[in-house]
Amino acid sequence: MDPDIKKLLQQVKSNSQKLDRELAEMQAERKKREELKKLAPEVYLKARQLRDAGKFKRRVVKRTPKDMQWDVIELDCGHKTEHIESLMICKLDHDSENCEQCIENWLRRNGKKKVKAKKAQ
Ligand SMILES: [Zn+2]
Repeated sequence: MDPDIKKLLQQVKSNSQKLDRELAEMQAERKKREELKKLAPEVYLKARQLRDAGKFKRRVVKRTPKDMQWDVIELDCGHKTEHIESLMICKLDHDSENCEQCIENWLRRNGKKKVKAKKAQ
């Protein structure tokens, strides 16, 4: 086989493997979101109350520009999130924020408890 074609085929194969991996990650992510959608309304109500009480507020430890638009924000709980930089300009004193991942973890923990409690009845 022509070495150039062989190389090209290799690249196509490697790109396709990469796409497969990305697709699998996206599907896993979507599955996680779907699971969260099935939670009882009262679980969300409780989560909102906790959020409004500042229970999920985390200190911003580090802000790193990712590209021209996005900043990567590191929070003191160890989670990372991304923000559009232009949104942050009007929030210069913005040194803490709600951690979406901590909220998700809480929802997952407390959503499951709810299911278990129902089964026990
Ligand atoms: Zn967090």
